[in-house]
Amino acid sequence: MISQQRLTDEFARLAAINSPPLRESVISRYLEERLQRLGAEVRFDNAAAISGGEVGNLIAYFPGTGKATEPLLFSVHMDTVEPGGQVEPVLRNGVFYSAGDTVLGADDKAGIAELLEALEVAREQGIAHGPIEVVVTIAEEIGLVGAKHLDYGLLKARRGFALDTKGVDQMVLKAPGANRLKIEISGLAAHAGLAPELGISAIQTAALALGRMQLGRIDQETTANIGRIEGGVASNIVPQKVLLEGEARSHDPNKLQAQTEHMLACFEEAADNMAREIGGKRVRPVVNAKVTADFPSMAIAEDAPIVTLAKSAAAAAGHDLKVRLGGGGSDANIFNGHGIEMIILATGMEGVHTHDESVAVTDMVHVTELLVEIIRQA
Ligand SMILES: [Zn+2]
Repeated sequence: MISQQRLTDEFARLAAINSPPLRESVISRYLEERLQRLGAEVRFDNAAAISGGEVGNLIAYFPGTGKATEPLLFSVHMDTVEPGGQVEPVLRNGVFYSAGDTVLGADDKAGIAELLEALEVAREQGIAHGPIEVVVTIAEEIGLVGAKHLDYGLLKARRGFALDTKGVDQMVLKAPGANRLKIEISGLAAHAGLAPELGISAIQTAALALGRMQLGRIDQETTANIGRIEGGVASNIVPQKVLLEGEARSHDPNKLQAQTEHMLACFEEAADNMAREIGGKRVRPVVNAKVTADFPSMAIAEDAPIVTLAKSAAAAAGHDLKVRLGGGGSDANIFNGHGIEMIILATGMEGVHTHDESVAVTDMVHVTELLVEIIRQA
């Protein structure tokens, strides 16, 4: 039923198409045509205009075939991480690598190839299934841009699978959410030798704040970091400005908020401590904080219907599907944030975001077996 040759050819074709984030027009045209040939109605949303990319997110609709179940969603992304350039996929001992000094782009093209093969098989075998929606997002690799700007009104499905993580026989039900922090501290500049009492050091304010701030691993499910600091002009000038950039992550939204507030409070307390009388007026450094929700956390219960479906499909395929804890943000965080219960499935890709990226053909066949069973049982 699954054609290893067809899957191999499909992956090689996809990998050879250049598809850096926001420059996905060529691959999107290929996928549009490919999905139409499989019987889908294909459209693009408006994400290109919002994100400055070449194309929007692709959405493909497969009508149900003799089964009136609620729609099922599959999500993959069409862009690949830099360094892109012309990828030349080579097959060595049944494993795909990149010949040159580019990534292979198995992230996420292994997932795309597996999904296409599973849809081929479902069609050939006349497997009865409910409506299937496929979303192929743009610019996942530069901050989940496509998923964030996706027109969710175009989707009916409220459950699904993202094919986008490494390994095999693994699914991710939980991944942390993240806030990004940008802090600007403004003190008062003064000559450090002639009149230091007329100045308020932004650097010292930042140091006071960081000295009392909890960073690193906060607990099992929460982390925090200040990753960039920039400021000051010269050794003889009391520094007026400092910029800091950091982040907080947690699987628990309340902890994420608490950690973010803690970090902001440290800056405010430091500013209070640095305030003083200058020329008869009380002057306090100004803290300008910008917090951006980078992506929400996702947490699907082990007994959720979508997990039951995945487990039952795996059992039918004779696979031992295990749960792994996610550490980063992916499109699935955004889908889950929009009320679509979405599990992340492993696609067999390895060494992602490096020149050693690879994917074994047998692993792609293995994942396709699971997808066919999911389509059959959904
Ligand atoms: Zn990916």
